[in-house]
Amino acid sequence: MSDIRTRFAPSPTGYMHVGGIRTALFAWLIAKKAGGTFVLRIEDTDKAREVDGSAAHIIECLTWLNIIPDEGPGAFGGEYAPYFQSERLPSYKEWAQKLIDDGRAYADPYSADELQAFRELAQKEKRPFLFRHHRPETPPVWDGTQALRFKSEPKAYTWHDDVMGDLPSGPEVIDDFIIMKSDGYPTYNFAHIIDDSEMKITHVIRGQEFLASTPNFLNLYEALGFTFPTFASVPPIMNEQGNKKLSKRDGAKDILAYREEGYLPEAMRNFLASLGWNDGTEQEVFSTEELIGSFSLDRVQKSGARFDENRLLWLNGAHIRSLSLESLYSYVSPVDDDVSRGTGFWPASAYNEDITVGYRTNVLALAQDRLKLFDDLRQFGYFFAEPARNEALLTDNKQLRKLTSDEQNDLLAKAHTSLESLETWNTESIQNSLNDLLTSTGQKPGILFSLIRIVVTWAPFSPALPETLEILGKETVLRRLDIATKAA
Ligand code: GLU
Repeated sequence: MSDIRTRFAPSPTGYMHVGGIRTALFAWLIAKKAGGTFVLRIEDTDKAREVDGSAAHIIECLTWLNIIPDEGPGAFGGEYAPYFQSERLPSYKEWAQKLIDDGRAYADPYSADELQAFRELAQKEKRPFLFRHHRPETPPVWDGTQALRFKSEPKAYTWHDDVMGDLPSGPEVIDDFIIMKSDGYPTYNFAHIIDDSEMKITHVIRGQEFLASTPNFLNLYEALGFTFPTFASVPPIMNEQGNKKLSKRDGAKDILAYREEGYLPEAMRNFLASLGWNDGTEQEVFSTEELIGSFSLDRVQKSGARFDENRLLWLNGAHIRSLSLESLYSYVSPVDDDVSRGTGFWPASAYNEDITVGYRTNVLALAQDRLKLFDDLRQFGYFFAEPARNEALLTDNKQLRKLTSDEQNDLLAKAHTSLESLETWNTESIQNSLNDLLTSTGQKPGILFSLIRIVVTWAPFSPALPETLEILGKETVLRRLDIATKAA
């Protein structure tokens, strides 16, 4: 195993969205590619913002997408446990005390009002507010109930970010930030640095929103005597137009909603990886093994990545097509085909008593190329139960509209006779019979085939006609042709 250790460090403050899980995927890919370790750490030190159940939700998302932590809370375990920050308080206190002892941290004696007055003064004097200009001469002894501030040493930095390149900053951005809050919890700014060091994280992969704070982090790393990890700041995810950050209004939603809609984890991973990364070739569809092989931080773009849900849909279709029929069947069906657990993505009628696994499998084989989402399978109800007549399909069809109902009935009766006479019922014999019918009736395929297709399915779309008829079976097809003729 290599020494490369990456981590995903979400705060449990709500549902997991596309930006968070994309960061997790990038960190996981870097670890997997190097044969290293991917760590999940739950950053639950902001008790006011915490949402119940978020940590379990995060783990469920990662599990669905098969981004499995090598180390993490609960059953994941690992030698640097615990992986919930709220369970690591003794460690933060110890490091905080060390900083105090080294003269690099002090208790903040000010009230909120006093702090506000400093801010307003800075504003009035048109200068940026820096806390370090108000360092108390003799700070009180820290008893754990006051905020504890880092005593910074302002200086310039140039640091390297694997995505952003070399980044410079001046001493003016360095300040005395809070490391321990008055509620006894550390701030993110402090806790993540302690944990990344204690957990031997080599690569800190996270969003660009932390770039502005990085000079302050560097100052703290130095005060603690820690070496800097490798930083990689991934670009934000933008709306489809690419002009602002993706928000709920632009479709940023809970990642698990995609599972409910019938997206494949493999397709979702492919899509997430492409949000801000490409391998420099034209390839768009990647298996997870291919992603692990070709992913690298130096091909992650600096600028925002456009979120295009249509692309996800397209990728999903591509991944569905590449599944074996067996595995597609297990994705869309209830476990063990046990209908007491629901019907998976099948229409309810697919579990009617007389429908066999073999029949469902045949339908699925035909549907596979047409599914963009598992949910699309619900459109194939006509394979399992008598479809309801939908007159509009006939009247809205420009070609069919030209025929009177007698003419339609005549064509349907001819189709009935010719299909009835078939001794072998397969795609080829059906195709031949339909072709003969074209010749004998002098009709165009656009009319004859559409008419037959509509009356046997009553659906706006269906797979190719001979295949559809083959699966439906001779008896059903003849019955439906009959019903249609009588109803017209
Ligand atoms: N807890 C931080 C967040 O959820 C993590 C940032 C980081 O990866 O360092 O934004």
